Amino acid sequence: MGAGIELPPENLDGYTFLLLGKHCLIRLTEEKSIRFCKGHTIDELFLPKQNARAKLVRWLKENARRIFASVTEEKAHEMGVAYASASVSSAKSRWGSCSSEDKIRYTFRLLYAPREAIEYVVVHELAHVKHKNHSAAFWETVERYVPDWKKRRKWLKTHRLLMEIF
Ligand SMILES: [Zn+2]
Repeated sequence: MGAGIELPPENLDGYTFLLLGKHCLIRLTEEKSIRFCKGHTIDELFLPKQNARAKLVRWLKENARRIFASVTEEKAHEMGVAYASASVSSAKSRWGSCSSEDKIRYTFRLLYAPREAIEYVVVHELAHVKHKNHSAAFWETVERYVPDWKKRRKWLKTHRLLMEIF
């Protein structure tokens, strides 16, 4: 499939996926808790054998919640936008959404994307607080804070298969 993305096999040991745009190798262990090790070219995630998949998804959601909340807060401050909340979902159809009550949601799978792509989605959703549509004024707002948004959006389109992982 496009962008060399492979869906996870039944046995996750040795499976490599993207985490914040960087390759991350899964190693199943007898340990009780998850351990993340940063490497030069590849990161490693040591995952307990027992309920590996469920534990991994919980870990991904926790990190997604923490990281997206902080980027949203930072960008909202920069844009002078007040949103109601920022939370994480398991959506497979969209990277993010903003409700009429200004509640922003991101799929935890956005965590696979590089920081630049995450920031584009965050700014996109925050621009919806001001504009509840995709009008020219909406895109002007996006462009002001992310001038190269087209490149970042293209990355997300090319890597759409990431929506199917976990
Ligand atoms: Zn939109």
